Amino acid sequence: MTNRFSLALHGGAGTILRSKMSSEKDADYRAGIQVALAAGHAVLSKNGSATDAVVATVCALEDNSLFNAGRGAVFTSAGKQEMDAAVMDGATRSVGAVAGIFGPRNPVCVARAVMDTTDHVLFGGAAAIEIARNAGLPFEDADYFYTDARWQALQETLRLRAEGRESDDPARRHGTVGAVARDMHGNVAAATSTGGMTAKAPGRIGDTPVIGAGTFADNESCAVSATGHGEVFIRYCAAHEISARMRFAGQSLADAAQHVVMEDLAKNDGSGGLIAVDRHGNIAMPMNSEGMYRGCVTEDGQFKTFIYADE
Ligand code: ASP
Repeated sequence: MTNRFSLALHGGAGTILRSKMSSEKDADYRAGIQVALAAGHAVLSKNGSATDAVVATVCALEDNSLFNAGRGAVFTSAGKQEMDAAVMDGATRSVGAVAGIFGPRNPVCVARAVMDTTDHVLFGGAAAIEIARNAGLPFEDADYFYTDARWQALQETLRLRAEGRESDDPARRHGTVGAVARDMHGNVAAATSTGGMTAKAPGRIGDTPVIGAGTFADNESCAVSATGHGEVFIRYCAAHEISARMRFAGQSLADAAQHVVMEDLAKNDGSGGLIAVDRHGNIAMPMNSEGMYRGCVTEDGQFKTFIYADE
């Protein structure tokens, strides 16, 4: 065992321009990233597990209405919120994931309950809600999850769609939160949580709960949490592809992650980015969009926050 640990998080990638960001908003986002990093750092610095750290980090992001997960999730075309989440433990390859849920305050905790209390990996809708109730997890009402900003974004997207002018720039419509960690024992883990894409079709499930697409962790290689145009991340098995490149092609985490984001995804309409950590604690945070809310901290206790492509 060493004292080494690493934690990285994202709060979604997309069209995030410095020119359109007020200094107050910039500060609010960085504060939200900092709070979430601190939640995970508190776990890892006390010799806690990577899995506990990524769940704590994602919970803090879900509780912050600025980010598209939990409170502040985006709306479907039918004006509802349907949330997806997943967690994976790289030491055991244990997985829990949920899709299309509404009500539990922290969807990532429902994913954790699937991992800890069932023999299965992925639950949807009513069955996932039942697992959350049996686990005693807190629920919230519609007012808690609602934000005016997300509602207005839906109206704008529906208006453009009705005029036949829907922006085919998916980067405008997506966002997600996630965390990856490597703990002092050398174990890695990943967790991801999302409301999906603004005005998505009811019932649509993105890459977040699809293991190997938006979420993946394996001690042999790395842990990955993605954010972006989910359909493309699923088609290219984005998260697992990074692990495969490391294991079969001998690539470094940085090279494998860069290749997937810039070649496989960017060239196939897959806007977005991801965060990844390898078993040594190295961190990569590549993106092919204008920005990605992100941050990292290691055992040196230096909290770093980034928003734009040029930091
Ligand atoms: N990947 C998420 C989804 O497609 C959205 C995002 O990360 O922006 O549901």
